Amino acid sequence: MNELIILKAARVAADWHADQRRKGVRQEPYVNHLIEVAELVAEADPGNTDLVVAALLHDAIEDQQIPVKTLAKLFGERVAGLVMEATDDKSLPKPERKRLQVEHAPKKSRDARLLKLADKTSNLRALAKSPPAHWPVERRREYVDWASRVAAGLVGVSEWLDGMFEEAKARALESIPAEAA
Ligand code: ZN
Repeated sequence: MNELIILKAARVAADWHADQRRKGVRQEPYVNHLIEVAELVAEADPGNTDLVVAALLHDAIEDQQIPVKTLAKLFGERVAGLVMEATDDKSLPKPERKRLQVEHAPKKSRDARLLKLADKTSNLRALAKSPPAHWPVERRREYVDWASRVAAGLVGVSEWLDGMFEEAKARALESIPAEAA
């Protein structure tokens, strides 16, 4: 039954990320982000259970150091492979990781592109709704610019999701106060 495996992934993700918060001023529980990304891919690609499950688990390796073998054992090789595709190599310095996201985006599998675009959409929504308190205007603008460059390599799979990203980007830009002259 699909709903059973999806709920299992949601429960496991809530547990693994229990002590993690979003970076925004509201410090939302991290699982809010995972559920939002899962809902976006579910609407973009109805019936793709592995993709919804992978969306719930997409930050488990990167943020919680869950071994990929554990993901494969619990949720299958396909889900584990998708999560791997969404995982940055944390041994690299951050600027290099950001550059590689732009470079690798168009080479990802179809499902990984949907997952990554949903992730960026959720992050831009968060930037508009609950920006990190210590981020100056310039850093927020830079983030939107970088997310857009990654997204340029991800669009073209789901017209609906492409539209959701554009909307989130517009909101994020609107939310950034104009710099005092
Ligand atoms: Zn994420």
